[in-house]
Amino acid sequence: MEFSFTDEQQQLRRSVREFAEGEIAPHVMEWDEASHFPVEIMPKLAEMGLLGVLFPEKYGGAGLGYIEYSIAIEELARVDGSVGLIVAAHNSLCSNHIYKFGTETQKQKFLVPLARGKSIGAWSLTEPEAGSDAGGTRTTAVRNGSHWILNGAKTFTTNGRYADVCVAMAVTKREKASHGISALILEKGMAGFRPGKKENKLGMRASDTSEVIFSDCRVPGENLLGQEGEGFINSLQILDGGRISIAALALGMAQGAFEAATRYAKQRKQFGKTIGEFQAIQFKLADMATQIEAARLLVYQAAWLADRKDARFTRESSMAKLFASEIAVRVANEAVQIHGGYGFIKDYPVEKYYRDVKLCTIGEGTSEIQKLVIARQLLGKK
Ligand SMILES: Cc1cc2nc3c(=O)[nH]c(=O)nc-3n(C[C@H](O)[C@H](O)[C@H](O)COP(=O)(O)OP(=O)(O)OC[C@H]3O[C@@H](n4cnc5c(N)ncnc54)[C@H](O)[C@@H]3O)c2cc1C
Repeated sequence: MEFSFTDEQQQLRRSVREFAEGEIAPHVMEWDEASHFPVEIMPKLAEMGLLGVLFPEKYGGAGLGYIEYSIAIEELARVDGSVGLIVAAHNSLCSNHIYKFGTETQKQKFLVPLARGKSIGAWSLTEPEAGSDAGGTRTTAVRNGSHWILNGAKTFTTNGRYADVCVAMAVTKREKASHGISALILEKGMAGFRPGKKENKLGMRASDTSEVIFSDCRVPGENLLGQEGEGFINSLQILDGGRISIAALALGMAQGAFEAATRYAKQRKQFGKTIGEFQAIQFKLADMATQIEAARLLVYQAAWLADRKDARFTRESSMAKLFASEIAVRVANEAVQIHGGYGFIKDYPVEKYYRDVKLCTIGEGTSEIQKLVIARQLLGKK
């Protein structure tokens, strides 16, 4: 077994950390309070290859794997979960769906600009009535000559208002249930395709979460992504990879909250001592560090498996996502507790980690759904 990162992976971690601390950290609270999508850092993310981490260089990507991708998401989230989420939805949902299931023409047309960061991607599966039960999709796509006519609405689409390209799932043959849902590629500016309500959120406020609305939207036939009827089934594979990124996102935020709590424990004095001298606080820090280390092992095990072309990693990515997100919520909670009243105040970073991290137990399948996925794998059920 090999537990160490290569020199290149360590260098990547250092450069993403330096970028996040230098160019994201000073703006984190301002972006959070204004719910400002940080368009200004997208060119720099692109320049660093972070908008095409997973894709071969011939498609404009950095030609790296899930280990490097997880490192990047972890380091961005250590400073700002929102930026990590923007990058995750762009890479492992939208762009990866096109990379894995697109034709060569679709890859040249859509993936290359996405991977180079010339366009921003979104991925729309969830609907108001189809969340955990995404097979209950109601949006329809009806063939009309050389086009598909799309009608319906998606909810909670990350990057929804800023996306140039959106991969959306729609029912093309209702009677075939989950084998009757197809994926289509939508482009900004298509008639009948528009973002709807921007959500006002508890956390991850600098990431954009919006409705996406289709009203008699005409989508060219060549924008069908993958086989007709296989969009939902393919989405499950896309979510296997996406869950690694949510796990890495949770890990990064847990790490950030832990570091803030450790710093505070060494400075804050009560009863004539730093609070880090109290065993109650030491035990909290020890538990937090141990949970983070265990989550890191699960995240990088899943990432390592995802990088082996012949490996299945549904169970491992769900386990990583379930465990990392649940411990991250606990770690952020303890980080606030260690700060006492100051943990409740926006001048200290733990307040924001506490709000942001909750998303990780919900997005890309709630913790309850991860348990169903894991149990299905254990019991050999389809
Ligand atoms: C900030 C944010 C960003 C998001 N980004 C995207 C995105 O980019 N693209 C996208 O498609 N979606 C996105 N989502 C949607 C997200 O994936 C869904 O919110 C999530 O899958 C849960 O669906 P739901 O909200 O409808 O909850 P529901 O499915 O209504 O669940 C409510 C509760 O019931 C539980 N539950 C449901 N079914 C079961 C069951 N069978 N057994 C046990 N418990 C169950 C759930 O675990 C949960 O606790 C985003 C959501 C948020 C909040």
